Amino acid sequence: MIITKQKSQENILKILAVKSKIFIVGCGDCSATCKTGGEDEVGKMADFLRSHGKVVTGSVTPDVTCVSAQAKIAFAKNKDALKQSDAVLVLACGSGVQCIKENDRFGLDVYPGCDSLFGALIDKDGKFCEVCSSCGECILDLTEGICPVTRCTKGILNGPCGGQNKGKCETDENKDCAWILIYKRLKEKGRVEQLKKRLSARDHRKSAKPGSRQL
Ligand code: SF4
Ligand code: SF4
Repeated sequence: MIITKQKSQENILKILAVKSKIFIVGCGDCSATCKTGGEDEVGKMADFLRSHGKVVTGSVTPDVTCVSAQAKIAFAKNKDALKQSDAVLVLACGSGVQCIKENDRFGLDVYPGCDSLFGALIDKDGKFCEVCSSCGECILDLTEGICPVTRCTKGILNGPCGGQNKGKCETDENKDCAWILIYKRLKEKGRVEQLKKRLSARDHRKSAKPGSRQL
C-alpha cells in the first residue's frame, strides 16, 4: 500500500487560495487505511474548507477501492457537481491525483491534499513499514523475504557492513540491521550456506525510480 500524510491545513488553504468551489476526492483503499483520505477525512476536510469560506460542491470516496481504478466512474457519477467546481482536491497518493487529472474532461485544476511517502506493509503491531523500493529486480527469494535494497540503510547486497552492533544498524540503534535479520532467518531455515553466494550488482536500468514506465 502507499503511505500518505495529509498536507497541513495551512498548505491546503495556500494551494486553494484562488479557488472557491471545491470538489473533494478521497480513496477507500490506502488513504482510508492511513486515515488521510477515507470517508471520515473527506468529511472533515469538507467542514474545514467550508469554515474557511469555500463552497464544497461535492465529494466522492470510492468504496474500499483504489481511487486510480475508480476515477472514470467517480467522474461520470459526479459530473454535475464537477461542472460547478473550479478545483478538485484529491486526498490520495500522487498516482491517484494524476489519475483523476487524466480522467478529467472539464479542464479542472486538480490538486494534491496529501504527500505520498512510500510503499509499505502493515506489521503485526499495525505500524507502516517501508519494505520495497520497486527496484525492478526482486531478490527476496535469495534473502528470505527481507529486502536489503530497502531495509539496509546503505542498500548493501552482500552485507552486513562492518558497522552493525548487536543486530542494530550503525546508523540508527533502534533499527534492526537488515543483514542480521536475513542471517537469522537463513539460520532458522538451515540455509546459512546461502550467504556464501555473492549477489550480483543491481542493474539500475531496471529500477522504477527515477523513470516513467508504462506496462
Ligand atoms: S528486491 Fe527490489 S523488488 Fe524486491 S522487495 Fe527489494 S526493492 Fe522491492
Ligand atoms: S548496519 Fe546493517 S542495515 Fe545498517 S548499513 Fe550496515 S548492513 Fe546495512
